[in-house]
Order: sequence, then structure tokens, then C-alpha cells
Amino acid sequence: MASHIVGYPRMGPKRELKFALESFWDGKSSADDLKKVAADLRSSIWKQMAHVGIKYIPSNTFSYYDQMLDTTAMLGAVPPRYDWNGGEIGFDTYFSMARGNASVPAMEMTKWFDTNYHFIVPELGPEVNFSYASHKAVDEYKEAKALGVDTVPVLIGPVSYLLLSKPAKGVEKSFPLLCLLGKILPIYKKVISELKAAGASWIQFDEPTLVLDLDSHKLQAFTDAYAELESTLSGLNVLIETYFANIPTEAYKTLTTLKGVTALGFDLVRGTKTVDLIKSHFPKGKYLFAGVVDGRNIWANDLAASLNILNDLEAVAGRDKLVVSTSCSLLHTAVDLVNETKLDQEIKSWLAFAAQKVVEVNALAKALAGHKDEAFFSASAAAQASRKCSPRVTNEAVQKAAAAVNDSDHRRATNVSARLDAQQKKLNLPILPTTTIGSFPQTIELRRVRREYKANKISEQDYIKAIKEEIKKVVELQEELDIDVLVHGEPERNDMVEYFGEQLSGFAFTVNGWVQSYGSRCVKPPIIYGDVSRPKPMTVFWSSTAQSMTARPMKGMLTGPVTILNWSFVRNDQPRHETCYQIALAIKDEVEDLEKAGINVIQIDEAALREGLPLRKSEQAFYLDWAVHSFRITNCGVQDTTQIHTHMCYSNFNDIIHSIIDMDADVITIENSRSDEKLLSVFREGVKYGAGIGPGVYDIHSPRIPSTEEIADRINKMLAVLETNILWVNPDCGLKTRKYAEVKPALKNMVAAAKLLRTEL
Ligand code: GLN
Ligand code: ZN
Repeated sequence: MASHIVGYPRMGPKRELKFALESFWDGKSSADDLKKVAADLRSSIWKQMAHVGIKYIPSNTFSYYDQMLDTTAMLGAVPPRYDWNGGEIGFDTYFSMARGNASVPAMEMTKWFDTNYHFIVPELGPEVNFSYASHKAVDEYKEAKALGVDTVPVLIGPVSYLLLSKPAKGVEKSFPLLCLLGKILPIYKKVISELKAAGASWIQFDEPTLVLDLDSHKLQAFTDAYAELESTLSGLNVLIETYFANIPTEAYKTLTTLKGVTALGFDLVRGTKTVDLIKSHFPKGKYLFAGVVDGRNIWANDLAASLNILNDLEAVAGRDKLVVSTSCSLLHTAVDLVNETKLDQEIKSWLAFAAQKVVEVNALAKALAGHKDEAFFSASAAAQASRKCSPRVTNEAVQKAAAAVNDSDHRRATNVSARLDAQQKKLNLPILPTTTIGSFPQTIELRRVRREYKANKISEQDYIKAIKEEIKKVVELQEELDIDVLVHGEPERNDMVEYFGEQLSGFAFTVNGWVQSYGSRCVKPPIIYGDVSRPKPMTVFWSSTAQSMTARPMKGMLTGPVTILNWSFVRNDQPRHETCYQIALAIKDEVEDLEKAGINVIQIDEAALREGLPLRKSEQAFYLDWAVHSFRITNCGVQDTTQIHTHMCYSNFNDIIHSIIDMDADVITIENSRSDEKLLSVFREGVKYGAGIGPGVYDIHSPRIPSTEEIADRINKMLAVLETNILWVNPDCGLKTRKYAEVKPALKNMVAAAKLLRTEL
């Protein structure tokens, strides 16, 4: 019985790679310094896995930036704007593609399936001259071998690579990317041959696109590609690794009949239905890599439960062909629990980060082979039991309230147009009202004040004084700019989820639980371990303080339940929607307290609602249903005269527009920086939208200051599609990453544009 790890985090337990990369990019250290840090990280990871006893240890899962970009480098598919002259791709070209340079912008980045990891999207077309331009896979294999570790080199599979690409600039949008298979396979063959020559006996191709709803034409590409590679692969054991969802039946058929393939890997954590497919049929003689240890969460494995599944699968695949594995690369979880010195001991006993998951995989493999580590298993059982009955986890009242949620639709009593009338009587806003999304620039001084308060270096009194002063400054600025609906600027928050998580019960925070988001950027998601409730008001003090400083309406500013959920590590002992309903009820309490405190406009941000959309189409309707329901729960109890806003950080919601309408917010503001067209096309196509809407009129991600004319122009375009009386004027997103020197003139021009158009209407 053997063990396998799909992939491992690269950043290091204390984000060593991040700091090495950033120091290199800043010119503070040399390429050799960076390479040394990287080599040390790889070596320690390989040795750690070997030491634990893992049989199939991955190599080439390290990356200086991203594994898709590494594949682009391997294939020499460098877009012409980077002026690459051939030869082996070095740091210059590689990081220019990743981050841009003084003269050319970076390649596009997008989310890796439904994770928070972002990859660099290949830009391909008929003109690309592929060449073998990065020997990284072979070099890493050899490097591990020299350290005495025989690894399984991992490559992004050729079909997934193409399916995740986009047509380059100037290439027709309809260009069939899969027709490039014939051009990239010769390079894959070279890589495979070199790996064989270097002594590799296994190779792993990651083909995660197999879990998507692919048409038969796309599935055929897998059949063709591996048939083409078959002779080159002969003599090797070949693993096709899939992950992130239930594999569709058709894709399963394709996968199990691929030529030249000897092993199949599955995510059995998210793919619970895949287990049934495997049980109904598994090809004789092939290895089954069973991903039972969750690579996307931080919970310790329920070893006894996993062992049951593995026992069943053993009967299907055969004893010597079953390999215990992780559900996906461990890239998507935190690195090492050992460094969590501040975490409560009981909660800590429920967790496993990447380093601990490696141990779990190995323990399961040993148990299947008849060498069960009894002490380890009983410690695991004890932790599972303590988690089940810990009073920290269960709050009867919350459970009851959340269970009752299903019985009602939670809708506001009056329809949106009547509500807007009632609100207008109270708020008396001009047409094209102006507002902002919430945060104002977070200055170094402000960050220092928060840090010192957290470290008990300044008193609560001094802290409150400093934050109040900041709010006053922001309020005065907005009045001076003549903005209609004001915000307090969010100076007390460093993060829109952490701020609420820290005040809600059921949340825990790590010190080093970082997960790579893109390049050197990492996020540290809170851990939702128990029933969520709100012991006391979270924002009422700051919002009412801000409201007392002005006669204009002050927006209360909250993060919505779906966004809090999607940006956290979520408990796995109850369905996600139940946890979301609990958070929704806690936010509802806050909304109602804000209303009582005289806040008439409340914004509930759902920046990440779309992010949680399941990969499989068949699962999307259910998700949208409970996500939208959760949002409605938060504000179904307010009066007609209280105006509920929401905000979203994307404009590609053509496919979910009906769910967005069903959220029934009074006003929605949307990020819209890169394409008015995409967003407006929904409305042009006749979707009826009666609520207020504020598509961002300028891009806050760039330091550029938009002119009045430019903004007026964009508003005019929107007016061509949307009714005058529902349009709001606002930037794209929060302003916290910008400088005042940019924000002041930009907002000034924004207000001027709105006023200009008001006179013309
Ligand atoms: N209210 C938040 C802010 O302005 C929204 C941030 C976001 O959408 N990501 O910062
Ligand atoms: Zn946003």
C-alpha cells in the first residue's frame, strides 16, 4: 500500500519564498540569493516527505510564480511583446510575463478553478512558435535525485493547458485552441524522454479540466493527446490527476480508457459521487490514487472514516494498486501547524496543515498495509470526538435559528420600486447620486495606529481618538467634494473579513496560516470552527459616530455572509449553506442595530459571491439559491425607508444576473473597470432591472486620474441602456490601496461629471 502527495505549497512555512522574491524584484538581492532560498525550500520539502515515508513524492510542483506560467515557459509560448530571443527562458522574461516591466504590461491572471489561487493565462494563436524553452521539470527531478529522493515529476497536462488558455491579442476569439495540440505534444515528448533518461519511472499529468462539463469534442482531445504520447510514455507509469469536483460520467469514461495511462487520481473529498463511479467500474490493472485527505481545508482527517472508504476501494482496485493521496495539491492549504503558537490547544488538535496532511496520508497507507499506528489513530479519534461534542463548537440557539431559516423566503415586505420611493422621500437625493464603495486610503500612520493598539502599545482611548480623527477627515473631505451619500472610510479595518471574524464567535485566527493567492501574494483566511453568533454590535459605534459628524446620509458598511464564508476556511462538519445561514443571522442582528442607531443606508458587500459558484453546472443553481437567500436574510427585517446597498467586485455576471436581481438590494454597485460593454450588454439584452445600480465609473486599481469628460462619457454610455432614475455614480471599488493625491482629484472629477450631466437631463 503506497502513499502519494499531489503537490505541496511553495511559499515555505514562514513565507520565505515571498520575501526572497520581493527582495529580488526590489533589486535588494541577487538571482543567486533567490535560487538558493528556492533550492533550500524544495530540498526541505522533499526530505520531509521522504522522512515521513511517502512513496510517490512530487517534483516540479515548486514555482517561482505559477505552474501554468512554468508550462508556458516550457513550451516557449512567450507573447511577442516580451521580446524574447529564444534559448532557455530566464528570470527576466519569466517575471516580465508574470508582472510586466517598465515597457510592457503583465499577462492576464485569472482564478484557478474555484480556488483563491490565480494563474497566468497562456495567450496562444496560430502564429506561436513553440519550442522547448524551460528544462525546469527535468532539472527539478535531477535535483531531488541528487538529494537521494526519487520523485514523480508533475506536468500540467497538455489538454488542460490548452483549455485554460485564451486566444492572443489579434487572434480571433473563436480560434480553436485545441488545434494546437499537434504543436505542443512534440515538446511534451522531449520532456518525457529527458525525464526517462534521467531515471524517472513515474510521471504525473494534472488534467483538472476533466472535472468540468466538457463537450465530446473536448473529451476527444484527451483521447487523441494520450494516444499520441503513448509510445513516448511506454516504460513509465503514467498518472492522470484530476481534482476539485465530482468527475462527470462521460469524462470518467474517457479518462479510464486513455492509452498509455496506468494510474488515475481523484479528489474524493469534493468528489463524493466519484467514489460511486469508481465502485461501479474501475479498469483492471490500473492504479487508483485515492485523494481522501483534503488539500483545500485545514481540518484534521477523520482517519477512521477515510479508512472505511479506502477499504471499499481496495476491493475494487486491488490491494497493490490502491494509493492513498491528497484530494488535490496542498498548495491550497496552510503550510505547517507547528508554527501556530497562539492557537488554542483544543482547536489546534482539530487541525492539519500541509505538513500534517502528509503524515495523515502516510498513516492511512500504513494502516491499509496492516501496520496501523494505533496511537496515531486513537489520537485522531479523540480529536474528532472532542470536535463533535465541544461546547465551543455547538451553540444550540444558533443551530435552532439556522435550521428554521429554510421555512421562510426572507423577503422584504414591499417591492423595490415602492421602497425606492419611500427612501427617496427620506433621503432626498439628486438624480445620478454620487457615493463611494467604503474604504478611503489607508495611510502608513493609520496602519501604525491599528498595529500599536493591537499590540497594547496605545490605550483604547487614544486609539478611538485617532480613528475618530481619521473619520472626521474623511467626512469633511466628502462634504467638500459634495458627495451625496457618505462613508466613514473603514479606518478601523485591515481586512473586510478579518474585521468581522474577530468579533463573531465561532472564528479562529492563525499567525502563519498563509495560502498563496498569486505570485508572492498570500492570504490568511480565518477558520470558522463553530456556530457563528454576534455577541455584540460590531460597527454601530463607528457608523453612528460618523453619522453624527454630518447631516448627509452615512452608509453603514458590512461584509455579507457569502463573502465571509468564501474567504474563510469553513467547517466541514455541516453543509456550507448552514454555516452561511448562521453568518447571515449574525449580520442581520448588526443590520437591525444599525437601523435602530439611525443609519438609513446600509451597504452589505458581497464581493465574493460569484467566487463560490461550483464548477459543475448541475450544482450551481443550489449554491446561488442559498447564497442569495443568505443575503436576503441579512436585511429582510428593515423598514422600507432603510436603503440596502450591496457591492460586487466583478462585472461578468451575465450568467447570474437573475440571482443578482433576486438578492433584491435597493442599490448595487459593481466593479466595472475593464469593460462597460460586458456589463451593459446584459441590460441591452432586455433584462429588467428596477433597483438602483452604480457600475464603477473609473478604475481604482490604477493610479491614473480620470478626467471629468471621460467619466461623463462613461455615464452617458450607461444612460443609453439604464433608466436615469436608477443610475448611481461611484468608483469601481474601495479606495484603500490608493493615495489621497489620487483619490481627491479623481473624486472631484467624478462629482463634476455627475453634476454636468444633471444639468443636461
Ligand atoms: N467596502 C469595501 C471597501 O471599500 C469593499 C471592498 C471590496 O469590494 N473588495 O474596501
Ligand atoms: Zn470591490
